[in-house]
Amino acid sequence: MSEPSQGDRPNSVPPIVAGPGKNNPGKNNPGENNPGENNPTINDPGVVEPERSHLLDMSSEGLTAWLVERGWPKFRSAQIQRWINQRRAKRFEDMTDLPKDLRKQLDTHFDLFRTTLVAHQQANDGTEKLLLQLADGGRIECVLLRDGPRRSICISSQVGCAMGCVFCASGLDGVERNLTRGEILEQMLKLQHLLEVDERLSHIVMMGMGEPLANLPRVLDALSVAKDPDLGLGISPRRITISTVGLPPAIDKLAASDAPYHLAISLHAPNDPLRNRLVPVNKSIGIRAIIEAADRYFAKTKRRLTFEYVLLGDLNDSPACAQELVQLLRHRTAMLNVIPYNPVPGLPYQTPSSTAVHQFRKILLDGGINVMFRQRKGDEIQAACGQLRRLREREPQIVSIGSSSVTDSN
Ligand code: SAH
Repeated sequence: MSEPSQGDRPNSVPPIVAGPGKNNPGKNNPGENNPGENNPTINDPGVVEPERSHLLDMSSEGLTAWLVERGWPKFRSAQIQRWINQRRAKRFEDMTDLPKDLRKQLDTHFDLFRTTLVAHQQANDGTEKLLLQLADGGRIECVLLRDGPRRSICISSQVGCAMGCVFCASGLDGVERNLTRGEILEQMLKLQHLLEVDERLSHIVMMGMGEPLANLPRVLDALSVAKDPDLGLGISPRRITISTVGLPPAIDKLAASDAPYHLAISLHAPNDPLRNRLVPVNKSIGIRAIIEAADRYFAKTKRRLTFEYVLLGDLNDSPACAQELVQLLRHRTAMLNVIPYNPVPGLPYQTPSSTAVHQFRKILLDGGINVMFRQRKGDEIQAACGQLRRLREREPQIVSIGSSSVTDSN
């Protein structure tokens, strides 16, 4: 996570922890009767429960077809989607202008939400972070950031990450799997549930766990709901950022898709020897190929590029690095986003000294680079990618503590 702003002291309230909900098997509650599992009823061998699907995995057309097959009019599909994406419904029964029968049918066939809340943390600066458990036990993180009028959400695309950036908590154990369309969407919706009625989501950054371009089809599916003003969340694609380590063929595919999403490339080093050390996947790609793909993206979309640069003390914060960056970026319509390292427990990296930051910044500004130095946000609640998940993985058991804002989230 690398979003901006003030690092106020965190809320001293410890994270709130909840147990698995009704539709979530959850490793930690094996005895719970779980309608999400397709177990034939033992006492009634004639009855086999239909397999429940995750509604959020279904496309708009798929839902319409499902309804029409059962004799419902098409317009019910739009109604349901607006209830979920715009009217913040948490259960089918909340959809009060749907016939009761339809709500019942939906409830029999679908899980609306499938993740269980493991932890909900809040910092004094308005940042809130959710640690969610997936139906198969995997865990992901997502964050809501409040910054002036902005309500930005940071969303995960994979369980873990395969890119291996040495300073990042998400990839320390590799990647487990891609998230589905529904699991990506569910994060957005659950964060939207945290908003007050008069607050609206304004920005999305695909900067949570995982490499979004390694799961591009699902990410694009979920984002097409996010940007849909009619049935979806209605967030302009210009306010949606896809952050990538830099996978050139996927950048080209993204350029070919119809939405001009904002592309951010996590550069972190101005030359290959250093980038190979910090971002090991670079060994098989190289900075040149990434920059060329970024240029093609710019040529196609005309969207200004962003390059991300996590500043690591005594590693990539030297004046020589700054000068190389100037050479690399000065003829491009690009912005450089410099982020101080957010320390990850157990990793040997340092935040840069203020002298190094000052020098680095001066060289970039003198070189005419459009540069933004980010403040850390939410680091007291382990808002850097994958941090909370790692801490929680070491806990033997999840404890249920009742709390309206948390237990209600399914
Ligand atoms: N895989 C994608 C998106 C997820 S990481 C990517 O590499 O861009 C999102 C951003 O957070 C990246 O720029 C990443 O390098 C940065 N990041 C990861 N760990 C960090 C840490 N400990 N401190 C600061 N930034 C970090």
